Amino acid sequence: MTLLTVLTVPDSRLRIKAKPVSVFDEKLSILFDDMLETMYVEDGAGLAAPQVGIDLRVVVMDVSERENESCVYKMVNPEVTWRSKELSVCNEGCLSVPEQRAEISRPAAIKMHYLDENGVLQHIETDGFLATCIQHEMDHLDGKLYIDYLSTLKRQMYINKVKRIKKYESEN
Ligand SMILES: [Zn+2]
Repeated sequence: MTLLTVLTVPDSRLRIKAKPVSVFDEKLSILFDDMLETMYVEDGAGLAAPQVGIDLRVVVMDVSERENESCVYKMVNPEVTWRSKELSVCNEGCLSVPEQRAEISRPAAIKMHYLDENGVLQHIETDGFLATCIQHEMDHLDGKLYIDYLSTLKRQMYINKVKRIKKYESEN
């Protein structure tokens, strides 16, 4: 397995609209393995392909810790088909915005579908942490980050903090 480099803000590659996957081959399953490995090493609950500079609608998630069972998801071309009017607030973080967190409000429950690594259609109806996680990761596929839900001022503050962290890391 290969560890991938996670891009951080303000990298413009985090802002692309990723392309749908049409081929389910060995390359895709290697990408899934590499993304999961990278996510575990970086201690994240989810990772979207654009975060590692790959322009595809691919997402991995592991919400096992929170849901108390093995919940590893490998999603291709995910689509949300329903969002509840009711909202819930979750304290979100993101590997592309390291060491920052913010309270973000999103629809509390969703219905969605995706293709698994074999190209088989899967449906999920969920709420709670998984619903938040899916929405957060899917935003990445459209070039959107959770900090976009914050005020311009706060967003810029977060980006500046990440720039300082990265600068410090590169000098030490
Ligand atoms: Zn993220």
